[in-house]
Amino acid sequence: MERVEWEGQALPLQRIMNPKKIKLIENKNLLISWQDGKEHSIPLLKLRKLCPCATCLAEREKQSKTYIPVFSENQITIDEIKQVGNYAIAIFWKDGHNTGIYEYTFLRLIGENSKD
Ligand SMILES: [Zn+2]
Repeated sequence: MERVEWEGQALPLQRIMNPKKIKLIENKNLLISWQDGKEHSIPLLKLRKLCPCATCLAEREKQSKTYIPVFSENQITIDEIKQVGNYAIAIFWKDGHNTGIYEYTFLRLIGENSKD
C-alpha cells in the first residue's frame, strides 16, 4: 500500500482517506470532513448521478454522453446513511434505491472534483 507522511508519522494512505465526519446538510449536500483536515460539500444530485451500483452503471452505459438524466425529489433525497465496513457508506435514497456503496476513496475523488 502507498504510504504518505502525515504529522510526522507514516500512515497508510487508506487511513487519511477516511472521513472524520459525514454530515447531511439540509438534505442538499453531503459534508465530509476528512482525517487530513480537508472538507468537501458534495451536492446530493451529483452523488445520485454517480451512483456506483451495477444497475446504475449499466443504465449510464446505455445512455449517450449527451443524455441529461432528470431526477425526482425522492431520488435526490437521502433517508439514511449506513457505514459499510471501514471503507465505505451505503446511501438509502428516499425512492427506495439503496444498492450504491460509495467507497471513501470514491467520495474523496468526487469531492476533489466538486466546485460549489
Ligand atoms: Zn444505483
